[in-house]
Amino acid sequence: MHMQQLAFEWEIEEDARGLGRPSIDLLPLDQYHKVLVSSSGGKDSVACLLHLLELGVPREKIELWHQCVDGAPTQERVEFLDWPVSESYVQALGDAFDLPVRYQWRDGGIRGELLRKDSLTGDVYYVDDDGKMVQLPTTKGKLSTRRKWPAMSADLSVRWCSASAKIDVFKRALNNHPAFQIGTKDQPQNILVVTGERREESSARARYAEAEDHACHTRARNVHAWRPVIDWPERRVWEILERHRILPHPAYLVGFGRTSCLGCIFSTPDLWAMIREFAPARFERLVQMERQLDHTIDAKMDLTAKANLGSLKRVPNDVRLGRWIETAMSRNVTKQDLIVSRWELPAGAFRGAAGGSM
Ligand code: SF4
Repeated sequence: MHMQQLAFEWEIEEDARGLGRPSIDLLPLDQYHKVLVSSSGGKDSVACLLHLLELGVPREKIELWHQCVDGAPTQERVEFLDWPVSESYVQALGDAFDLPVRYQWRDGGIRGELLRKDSLTGDVYYVDDDGKMVQLPTTKGKLSTRRKWPAMSADLSVRWCSASAKIDVFKRALNNHPAFQIGTKDQPQNILVVTGERREESSARARYAEAEDHACHTRARNVHAWRPVIDWPERRVWEILERHRILPHPAYLVGFGRTSCLGCIFSTPDLWAMIREFAPARFERLVQMERQLDHTIDAKMDLTAKANLGSLKRVPNDVRLGRWIETAMSRNVTKQDLIVSRWELPAGAFRGAAGGSM
C-alpha cells in the first residue's frame, strides 16, 4: 500500500466547550478564591501556570489538577494509554512552585471503561487534603457495554475517552470535594478553572471562547473557565518555559509535538512508529487489545499497519535520547530535574498539534 494513496484525516482532540459562544467577562483575578490549573503536563498548561505566576496570582490560591487517565496512580496499575512520567512531572511542577497537586481518576481509567461489559461506568476517586483517597460511587446511568475504542471524532459522545477519563472526572471531583462547597448564594465561592487550549491548534479551537461559565458553575459557586493562552502562538509558549527554565515534558524531548496520552487515538503514523520504537511492550499491549476487542482504533487499519506507514525521522539524533526515553517511561521526575540550568528547545517543538492534545 502506498502512503500517498491513503487519505488520513488527522484530527486533534476537540470538545464542544465554548465553541462559538461569546466570551464572558471574568472577575478581577484577585477576587477568585481558588485558581485550578488543569494540567496533563503539556507545554500549554505549563505556560498557563507560569503566566498566572507572572501576573502575580498568589501561589496560595493556585492548585494543579491532574486526571490520571490510566486510573489510580499506584504501582500496581496497568499502564495503558498514558505517559508513565506524566504524574511525576506534574507533581514536580507543583513541588517546584510549592503548589498543591490534586489527582482524580476513574476506576480502571480508559482501559476499564473500554472493557466495560453490562455494567455502570467506573467510580470516580480523588485524593483529599490529607492524602486520603475518596470514592465517588457511580450509581446512576444504564448498565451497558463499551468494548469499542473511542471514535476518532470531535463528537464527545462517541469519542468517549476525554469525557469519561478527564472532563467528567474533573467535574465530579470539583462538585464533591468539601473545599469547593463552602460558598452560599449570598457569598459565593469564586473559582477559576484554567486550561491551555490555543486557537492556533485547530479550526474548532479557533472558535473557543476565551472565558465562559464552567459546567460546575452554580449560584453558590462562581466557576469560570479561562483559557489564558488561547491566542498565543507556539513560540510564546516555549518562550515562557525558557524564561522560567522549565524542562518540557519528556514527550517533547523525544520528538512528540504534544503530550496528553502517549497512545492517543489521534496519533499519526509517525507517532505510532515512535511509540513502537520507544515502548514496544506498550505498543504490543494496544495491538493485543485491538485483537481482543476485534475493533481497531482507526477504522481504516490496525495499529501495526498504521505504524508501518510512519517513520522515525523526527526522532532527535542526540546522545541523550536513550536517557530521555527512559525518563518518559519512568515515574521519576523530581523538582530538581524540572528547573534546568541550560534551557533548550525540544525536538518536539513546532511539530504541529496533530496526534492529540487536551
Ligand atoms: S489524549 Fe487522546 S486518547 Fe487521551 S483522552 Fe484525549 S483524545 Fe482520548
